[in-house]
Amino acid sequence: IIKLKNVYKAYVNGQLSQPVLFDISLDIGAGEFVAIVGPSGNGKSTLLNLLTGIDRPSQGEVTVCGSSLHQLNEEQLSLWRGANVGIVFQFFQLLPSLNLLQNIILPMDFAAKKSRRQRVERARYLLDLVGLSDQAQQLPSQVSGGQQQRAAIARALANDPQLIVADEPTGNLDAETADAVFALFSRLNRQGKTLVMVTHNEGLAESASRRIAIHSGRIHYDRQDDQETP
Ligand code: ATP
Ligand code: MG
Repeated sequence: IIKLKNVYKAYVNGQLSQPVLFDISLDIGAGEFVAIVGPSGNGKSTLLNLLTGIDRPSQGEVTVCGSSLHQLNEEQLSLWRGANVGIVFQFFQLLPSLNLLQNIILPMDFAAKKSRRQRVERARYLLDLVGLSDQAQQLPSQVSGGQQQRAAIARALANDPQLIVADEPTGNLDAETADAVFALFSRLNRQGKTLVMVTHNEGLAESASRRIAIHSGRIHYDRQDDQETP
């Protein structure tokens, strides 16, 4: 479902070019549960942004959910993203002027597949799933960081995407809530969703079926459960 071929990424600022990812080639199959691990500032979020088409590689090809992202323009990319991918951002990116319920309805408005009533119903179901039923009418600024994080997870699930990409989805959660979020991801994975998640939480990474470590912009290791050496 995800194929990266000889991907390089450098951030260019005027004359300065800062290389961040070097020759990454990677295949992730449908239904996999992948944890991306590695030290801070080593390119994990950059890699996720390439998978979701939020950013483009400097070199190489990225194919996700049947589309070669380099062949899509921005408008096609956002349509493709809405139809295929749910994204949990490292810094949530909830819209500050909308309450949590409205934030979760928004991607369904863009998809325009459900009636108004069905959208509200699904948003309430998702808020309940992440334990935020009582906060539906609150603005993001009126809830805690962990609650914002859970709302961002609910929003990523709004259009029932086949691929869920999450950047530190449990970073702001206490151990118990992190476990609950992780249980939710595992359940989605058993239901057939493909999950790619950046995490610093080693326990959570161990529960994924595959772990890919990014060190200094390169794949340091790539371990699948069934090929692990003790
Ligand atoms: P963390 O675990 O702290 O989230 P990360 O592995 O996700 O780190 P990235 O966010 O991918 O790291 O950043 C990798 C490198 O690219 C860093 O050196 C960072 O400063 C740089 N970088 C990231 N985004 C940009 C940007 N938009 N412009 C310029 N440099 C950037
Ligand atoms: Mg990051």
